[in-house]
Amino acid sequence: NTGSERPHAVLLASPLTGHLIPLAELARRLVEHHSFAVTLVTFSNLSLPAHVLSSCLLPPSVATAVLPSVDMGDIPAADIFQVFLELIRRSAPNLRALVRGISATAGPLAALVVDFFFPEALLVAAELGVPGYVFVPTNLTMLALERRFMELHHVHGLPPGEYRDFPEVVELAEGVSMRREDFPVPYRDPNRLAFPQLLEDTRRYLRADGFLVNTFDKMEPALVEAFRLAAEQRAFPPVFTPGPLVRRSKPEPDVGDQDCLEWLDRQPTGSVVYVSFGSGGSLSLEQTTELVAGLEDSGQRFLWVVRVPDLTAESETATGGNDDDPLAWLPEGFLERTAGRGLAVTAWAPQVRVLPHPATAAFLSHCGWNSTLESVQSGVPMVALPLGAEQRMNAVILEREVGVALRPPAREDGVVVRDEIAAAVKELLMDGEKGRFVRRRAGDMQQEAARASLPEGSSRRALEEVATKWKLACGMEK
Ligand code: UDP
Repeated sequence: NTGSERPHAVLLASPLTGHLIPLAELARRLVEHHSFAVTLVTFSNLSLPAHVLSSCLLPPSVATAVLPSVDMGDIPAADIFQVFLELIRRSAPNLRALVRGISATAGPLAALVVDFFFPEALLVAAELGVPGYVFVPTNLTMLALERRFMELHHVHGLPPGEYRDFPEVVELAEGVSMRREDFPVPYRDPNRLAFPQLLEDTRRYLRADGFLVNTFDKMEPALVEAFRLAAEQRAFPPVFTPGPLVRRSKPEPDVGDQDCLEWLDRQPTGSVVYVSFGSGGSLSLEQTTELVAGLEDSGQRFLWVVRVPDLTAESETATGGNDDDPLAWLPEGFLERTAGRGLAVTAWAPQVRVLPHPATAAFLSHCGWNSTLESVQSGVPMVALPLGAEQRMNAVILEREVGVALRPPAREDGVVVRDEIAAAVKELLMDGEKGRFVRRRAGDMQQEAARASLPEGSSRRALEEVATKWKLACGMEK
């Protein structure tokens, strides 16, 4: 039912797997819980692999539209933020036409929601006179950090692109601070090309009518309160927390998924550590070697989604495998020695089925925010091995604020060595004192997440509030 009696929301996705997955889930909820019609808009540029789209499980009631490809040949691909800014600038006329078309044919346009990498698209919402919202696929801590940097820059009265007195530690809310070494990658070094661009993006956020952030109140309580106050004082747009936006697993797993699940079925309850680093994350060759040794030394069962190592940090003479077969990079004999207790899969595991499986006891993770929320929702404690993006910051939240993860210390060069990995895995699986605490916290947070998602829960109410505003704005509700 996408007829004109339903208010229509247009959701603009970013072409990143970890951003699209929770946005698709938001779309589903708007349709199924709040009687919206939704169009999810993606880009032809940088399109996603088919298994990602299929794993999002879009309900038939969510329509999709694809923005035509635009020429990006002149933009260096390495500067991802520049790519995104130019992509949205060049696509703006197409987006405008698409949204106009929707409002002409598919009923009253209620809102335009844009991924947080595309605040420039809020201009289109303003032009069309509809509420413009920003979707943050990661957490409130990230939004707080962005906001803090914007303020600091403003206080120092610096021209765009310049930054001095870069703080070692920033305070984000009462009792919540973050050290520079744990900042998201582009913020660690203010001299990076992307930094001024990011500040500009944050300034564009101020045009938003509101934010939808993939978190829930009990996950980041101090920040929820800080943003509530900021909205009350009209210092920042209102922030809503409808998470965890975790996709449901498909009724029937794909053929390739069966191997993983059948293997898990054969393992004892609470005996397996699931090892995965997200949709794109790969380890350096050295970190791979340490992980292999750590898993072997731990003596525990594991299910590992293995990727071809990231060789950018290695000498050009690194040998041992090829681009097509991630397993060829693993040390000689490892798979044979661990054959009875370990399973290595390549490419893609059905993570939303693996985590709640009774055999799964812990998740050794890069702390991508979707992985994090999926783990919390399943009550699975984590071993944090953050790689890039905002993952170190997420690891801090998980270890220090929420208490659902152990974070084995890294060496100066960032590598976590085998002993630390083995110790953390054993601590969680063999009932050490710290491990017991973290497991208990994981159980508590699972309950909190479930509570937030009940009809009267905070997350459900947050989306209800937004939905009501949107319906009012397009005259569908008085
Ligand atoms: N994922 C999966 N199978 C895999 C790897 C990843 O299903 O083998 C899913 C995972 O469940 C999560 C998403 O891909 O929903 C990864 O998002 P996350 O934010 O954790 O990390 P990112 O990919 O953005 O680094």
